[in-house]
Amino acid sequence: MIDSIIVGAGFAGAVTAERLASAGLKVLVIEKHNHVAGHCFDYRSDNGIIIHKYGPHLFHTNNTGVWEYLSKFTEWDVYQHKVKAFIDGQYIPIPFNLDSIRMVFPSSVADRIEQKLLKYYKLNEKVPILELKKNDDKDINMLADYVYEKIFLNYTAKQWGMRPEEIDSSVTARVPVFIGRDDRYFNDRYQGVPTRGYTKMFENILDHPNIKLMLNTDFKEVCELKDGEIYFIGKKFDGKVVYTGMVDELFDFKFGELPYRSLKMQFSDINQESYQSAATVNYPNNYEFTRITEFKKIHRLKSEITTILKEMPDEYRRGENTPYYPVFTGENQRIYEQYAEYAKTYSNLSLLGRLAEYRYYDMDDIVMESLSKTNEC
Ligand code: UDP
Repeated sequence: MIDSIIVGAGFAGAVTAERLASAGLKVLVIEKHNHVAGHCFDYRSDNGIIIHKYGPHLFHTNNTGVWEYLSKFTEWDVYQHKVKAFIDGQYIPIPFNLDSIRMVFPSSVADRIEQKLLKYYKLNEKVPILELKKNDDKDINMLADYVYEKIFLNYTAKQWGMRPEEIDSSVTARVPVFIGRDDRYFNDRYQGVPTRGYTKMFENILDHPNIKLMLNTDFKEVCELKDGEIYFIGKKFDGKVVYTGMVDELFDFKFGELPYRSLKMQFSDINQESYQSAATVNYPNNYEFTRITEFKKIHRLKSEITTILKEMPDEYRRGENTPYYPVFTGENQRIYEQYAEYAKTYSNLSLLGRLAEYRYYDMDDIVMESLSKTNEC
């Protein structure tokens, strides 16, 4: 007897499954890959380095409830992510901050810009680049043009195939200009990576007597959606179904394909102890890739060989590569709304997560959302 079916074993699916199972429901989790953890999946390489197969995932949150919840399933390695951008031969702290300004402008100009920034904004304020560009002070304008051209324009062209103005403003606002000297990528109260890796943490989340896990299974191999009813292996299923995969695929693309952005992940082992000065270095203006991550710097592991990852943005091609990011434009949002509206004709179906809700969830946001959705049940 199954009370609830969860499709997908990433954060949305795993946390929902655990919560429902702990509330006494029998839960079936269906996952099409041969592993849990979704895009957080990681593994230990032959060199002992923990590798994030789908790109770097650095956990950060201000939400004590989320941190405490996940801490039931993992210990954490303390880790505060720092990123540098390779700009005109120098490695500049990103988000661009008051010290970054000093590295790229002569000190008299940097003094003036800093004074102006502190006149218009508060110390430690985060100002999105597209906001900074609206300021008509000529020094601020010069800074905004510099940051726009050197940090955002070409990176965004590579990452999204668009100009910064064409994509939803919340995307570039993720990496604001920082009016202060904190050079961390995130300022959240809690930051870290699971000591034994994300995959182990997900295995612990799903390790519950009320949870059955079906790997290597596409939802449609066992379920069918027809005329407002959901069928499981041919029989009508009235329990709750939480779907965390691609919503356009779920409904056979009836309102058209939703665009996604993909990445080619190029891993290499380098025969040296250290490759670069930060865990992640962004290359906005050089090369085809957007950034290089050196994984041993995240868990501070010792090894003679180091492993790096170059991320090459690519168009998503169905059946060929992986959908990493929804493409956040007004037009795509309107297509998504049609799917979301249609999903309501299935009264026992919920859509949850980055792909199902076509949203740029951070890891902590989707954990929070999954916890609050299951509290409502
Ligand atoms: N971005 C940029 N230059 C950078 C870093 C980020 O233009 O050096 C822009 C780019 O559009 C990117 C967005 O800011 O997609 C969000 O960056 P973030 O690092 O949060 O992306 P993620 O790690 O989620 O891929």
